[in-house]
Amino acid sequence: MGLSIFVITVFLGGAFAVPALVGPFYQTNDYYTYEEIGDYLDGLAWSYSNRVVLKEIGVSYENRTLRTITISNGDGRPGKNVIFIDAGFHAREWLAHTTALNIINELVVNYDKNKDLLDDYEWIILPLVNPDGYTYSRSDIERIDWRKNRKPSGNGCIGTDLNRNFEVGWGAGDASDDPCNFQLYRGEAPFTEPESQTIQRVLLELTANNRGKLYLSIHSYGAEILYPWSYAKETIKNYKEHLEIAEKAIQAISKTSRPSKYVARPGNAMYVAGGSSMDYAYKVGFPLSFVWELPGIRGNEEFKFYPPKYLIRELVRETWVGVRAMAKNVIKYYPTS
Ligand SMILES: [Zn+2]
Repeated sequence: MGLSIFVITVFLGGAFAVPALVGPFYQTNDYYTYEEIGDYLDGLAWSYSNRVVLKEIGVSYENRTLRTITISNGDGRPGKNVIFIDAGFHAREWLAHTTALNIINELVVNYDKNKDLLDDYEWIILPLVNPDGYTYSRSDIERIDWRKNRKPSGNGCIGTDLNRNFEVGWGAGDASDDPCNFQLYRGEAPFTEPESQTIQRVLLELTANNRGKLYLSIHSYGAEILYPWSYAKETIKNYKEHLEIAEKAIQAISKTSRPSKYVARPGNAMYVAGGSSMDYAYKVGFPLSFVWELPGIRGNEEFKFYPPKYLIRELVRETWVGVRAMAKNVIKYYPTS
């Protein structure tokens, strides 16, 4: 729903009734469509206008808007450090952006429980990086395995792996130069895709003013918290800090009722892959940069990329426990001056 339609709806529905109709009813028992995600964000901006700002930061190849939500405590203090989260790079990883929506919900709707995370920090969240790919993956059961975006890539094929299209180590390791590769096509050059360009712009903006401290990109699956580098078998200088912060998130999760078994390790631990957003964010100045791979198994039920709807709620809640612990430590390690 666009802003103008939203406003008209408000007018027709009456000022009191409408927030209740389109307001922040985040349901954790289903996967929202691109349009429903938009409605949810609009509802939050309407209901919590003192603490929430929406911003259109880019447009996908098929002309869907990429929107961030900036969440603050509304005190108007400028220059706070920033936690930046994105999700949904890969079309089939539906749980990833669903998790991002739950994080938004915790910070905005459950503000009273979480306001300690907003005293000295702002959170900027891009819940859906690849709306075209996601919408395609929902459109037919045959398409559910789609991963890339939807821009024509060459040789009559479609799509680039957005998480191979960033500049750092572009083309290294587990990336393909074949436009018809179903999963890992890296693009003709770094930043050929509107979606990766959009994230590049945001990351550069947040590091130019020195505010961006944590970059967190949510993917599925694997129950892993990864840190740079991904593109080479080298060790970053503050790897201990990354490891400590990731392990504190894992410890917090381990105290929940049915904890997933997470590991923390560098992105290169399994295989090298160049062109990732995690490496790029770290390289341009985010001192902390992680990929969060959500679990693909619950108890003895293995669902991989496709968690059944009845598990969404406990999965997103568990992840929030970990993200919260991670954020607490980020704020401690990198206080706003
Ligand atoms: Zn992914």
